[in-house]
Amino acid sequence: MVAPTVKLNNGREMPLVGFGLWKVDNATCADTVYNAIKTGYRLFDGACDYGNEVEAGQGFKRAIDEGLVKREELFIVSKLWNSFHDKERVAPICKKQLKDYGIDYFDLYIIHFPIALKYVDPATRYPPGFFYEDNKVEFSKATLEETYHAMEELYDQGLAKSIGISNYNGGLLLDLFRYAKHIPQTLQIEHHPYLTQEPLVQLCKERGITITAYSSFGPASFIELEMKKAQDAPLLFDHPTVKSIAEKHNKSPAQVLLRWATQRGVAVIPKSNNQSRLAANLDVCSFDLKEDEIKEISSLDQGLRFNNPTNVSTFYRKRCTTTSLTLFAVRHQHPDLRIDSLDTKRKQYHSLTTHPTRA
Ligand code: NAP
Repeated sequence: MVAPTVKLNNGREMPLVGFGLWKVDNATCADTVYNAIKTGYRLFDGACDYGNEVEAGQGFKRAIDEGLVKREELFIVSKLWNSFHDKERVAPICKKQLKDYGIDYFDLYIIHFPIALKYVDPATRYPPGFFYEDNKVEFSKATLEETYHAMEELYDQGLAKSIGISNYNGGLLLDLFRYAKHIPQTLQIEHHPYLTQEPLVQLCKERGITITAYSSFGPASFIELEMKKAQDAPLLFDHPTVKSIAEKHNKSPAQVLLRWATQRGVAVIPKSNNQSRLAANLDVCSFDLKEDEIKEISSLDQGLRFNNPTNVSTFYRKRCTTTSLTLFAVRHQHPDLRIDSLDTKRKQYHSLTTHPTRA
């Protein structure tokens, strides 16, 4: 099974269902990607910050070498990390990421967050995460306009066949429209029934920008990271509205959540480390929800956002020098996590850190 595609505003086709690579372990990433391709996935959503681009590339190579798929049938997405927003840093880091994957263009390259951090040399630390060398957040002077123009150059040079942004709100988008030479093809945002972001979705529709939803299952992705806000929210999989609609269609709640998005033209990139869930998540365009079912699910909106590092300030500090990669991945992607019970190291880390907004 292969997912249907959506036409982007530059005429290119993007699969409506893809596979997200955040929290896919390095040890299993190549096999997971290879198996996902075998299952029918064609879009892979990666990022510098996920720290597994080399391994994902190995999965692509194996699938291509074995003739499962051609490069041009894949839709490979990656993201520009915050530490590389200065205009002279954008092309070099994009080329490094391409090299890590073993490919010569991205199908889509996205500004990960509207946050410009001070440059970290990849030879010093890669992925750099949110914190600078002295373990505090340091900002760069790069404006989003400067960074976006550098992204447009990647597009003009063919290093990125499409470009996008992520975690932008309406105001940032309206500003972008004033200076963009090429309107972005996609906007990637947190989007699930607890956070439907209707006005932003509408604005993008009007401007021909395709929305990609991340964390489509709401709290599920953040519970495993011990985020209190997520632990306190009822699981969407268990929500009576979602469950009863799923039963009527003989589908799982996860499939209903994904179909709720795709039926409204919102692309999804669920992640699963489990082969049967990964397969089921791809089968989310073969049935249709009724209009009133879509409305019922949309009415669960509470404006409940789990991923909010855009409020980062120099007050975010950690006092320890732990450099465990796991800690890095968890901590840097989500500075406001409770990370006190994941394992001994994390407990130790927790006791050594301060964070003003930890839930
Ligand atoms: P997600 O896809 O919403 O959910 C992941 C969680 O749901 C995992 O715990 C997974 O566990 C579980 N799951 C997956 N399929 C399931 C199913 N059919 N039934 C029950 N549970 C299921 O979360 P996400 O990783 O936050 O978001 C998806 C992708 O979006 C990421 O991988 C990343 O590529 C992207 N993303 C982007 C940003 C950004 O700032 N642009 C931020 C976050 C994420 P198992 O693995 O055990 O199945």
